Amino acid sequence: MANIYIFIGPPGAGKGTMGDIFCERTGVIHVSTGQLLRDEMAAGTALGAKVKDVIASGALVSDEIVAELVKNRIAKADIKEHGCLLDGFPRTVPQADMLDKILKDGNDTMAAVVLIEADAKMLMGRLTSRRMCSNKDCGAIYNVISQKPKVEGICDKCGAKLYQRSDDSVETATNRLKVYEEQTAPLVSYYEAKGQLKRTVSTDRSPEDNYAEMAKVLGI
Ligand SMILES: [Zn+2]
Repeated sequence: MANIYIFIGPPGAGKGTMGDIFCERTGVIHVSTGQLLRDEMAAGTALGAKVKDVIASGALVSDEIVAELVKNRIAKADIKEHGCLLDGFPRTVPQADMLDKILKDGNDTMAAVVLIEADAKMLMGRLTSRRMCSNKDCGAIYNVISQKPKVEGICDKCGAKLYQRSDDSVETATNRLKVYEEQTAPLVSYYEAKGQLKRTVSTDRSPEDNYAEMAKVLGI
């Protein structure tokens, strides 16, 4: 029997960082679906070849394929022993139904689903805070919240202008938050109805302090 953990939270809430600390402290194994897909392709299996074709065609890998990879991974002995934090799956209610069936079939347990909530203004600030040096030979990266340049808009190292990548624009951030609200936020009521949801709030205190709050909620 494996204990499965899931963290749900909007982009910018610090889910990745808190997941890293959680796995490091508890010995729970981090399983990301992106890594599972890459490993399967690298292993050259029939399924891996199929994944490669789908990605090469520019399409999204189907829920069925991702579910199969998750199922195979969590059946392994290390996860039966240490449990796992599933990262990247489920993102939608249909995927959560698939996971539910996988856990039942494998006699595994959902140990906890943690919702990491955060203030919308803080999320927007974090998602748009990165600045890059425009000098390709320099490539320095800044953050207007946590790693400001000495002079606004100018690289400390080479004096070139800083710019914001389109990935870090308000428009992209707005879209990412909207996708989260539409697709992933419905998971909250899904797991709440099952009595598996635990809530914690991420603020602009340190990741360590945010983790401490979450650990309290998890009772660890
Ligand atoms: Zn520079």
